[in-house]
Amino acid sequence: MPDEFGLIARLFVPLATGYPGALGLTDDAALVDVPPGRRLVVTADAMVAGVHFLPDDPPDLIARKLVRVNLSDLAAKGAVPHAMLLCAAFPHGTTDDWLDRFGAGLAADVAAFAVPLIGGDTVATPGPLTLSLTALGLAEPGRELLRSGAAPGEGLWVSGTLGDSALGLMVLQGSLTVPDEDAAFLADRYRLPQPRTTLGPRLIGLARAAMDVSDGLGGDLGHICKASGVGIEVEVERLPLSPAARRAITTDAGLLAKCVSGGDDYEIVLTAPSGADQAMGALSAELGVALTRIGRVVPGTSVTLVDGQGRALPDSPRGYRHFTGG
Ligand code: ADP
Ligand code: MG
Repeated sequence: MPDEFGLIARLFVPLATGYPGALGLTDDAALVDVPPGRRLVVTADAMVAGVHFLPDDPPDLIARKLVRVNLSDLAAKGAVPHAMLLCAAFPHGTTDDWLDRFGAGLAADVAAFAVPLIGGDTVATPGPLTLSLTALGLAEPGRELLRSGAAPGEGLWVSGTLGDSALGLMVLQGSLTVPDEDAAFLADRYRLPQPRTTLGPRLIGLARAAMDVSDGLGGDLGHICKASGVGIEVEVERLPLSPAARRAITTDAGLLAKCVSGGDDYEIVLTAPSGADQAMGALSAELGVALTRIGRVVPGTSVTLVDGQGRALPDSPRGYRHFTGG
């Protein structure tokens, strides 16, 4: 492992070019200008080897997942990514090859999302690889999408498809066997989330409440219930599933519960007034991102899974459950 400053110069300084306030990562701190009429939306997420990823996962994908889970949080608030900071604790003995691959993954997403790395800290640790990324986004004050904005009568929508990542993890762990092509698709959805950075800011003015789905739809919706003081009904039959997930469920119906409760989707779930249906359809078509109405906001305090007729589904060994707001 090179010394700290050699590492910063080699891996990180190139990712700060184009952002004058980063001062080429040669000073103690970065300078951030916030354009008039905007405010900073700030989020951080940490990942620890053995907890959030496997120590032998590809280093470029570890870096990219770290970036993407943070950009997903910004997107869910309607914020446009602006810059990020990385605190990295690399285990003693981390090889140059590993570090270069980690840097390459970071570089790929700095470019893909046009979000420079403007600072951070680099240390060595006797413990496991520990990474923390802070992402800065910009939004119009007062128009950010919050979990607290939902009201009864609104529709519940979600972007993309749900459950791919949870099934992908099962495939990677060897507890689910599917055809090779489906396995590759599902594993990719787990390893390389696609944060809805373009969609998020476009939902401002359309959505009333929003959050990203990171811990599983059922549980995450409980947070909107609590923050907004509402209940939510989810029509399970409407959940958007990829062809690969659909095929897996055809062979084992119990996997549908995984798609409701599994995590790592990094889609945006939102509520919108019923008058927004047409605009949602137009936005979906324009961006090429599926937006599916999967339920509605009702008076109450918790999440209920319902069938096509609006009847609450009973708890069952398959995992259907009433998710509480608590
Ligand atoms: P300090 O001595 O205050 O800890 P450093 O000398 O470690 O600061 O950092 C020098 C510069 O390199 C700073 O601009 C810092 O933000 C940047 N930097 C250090 N580690 C990282 C990293 N992992 N990612 C991005 N920038 C980093
Ligand atoms: Mg300093």
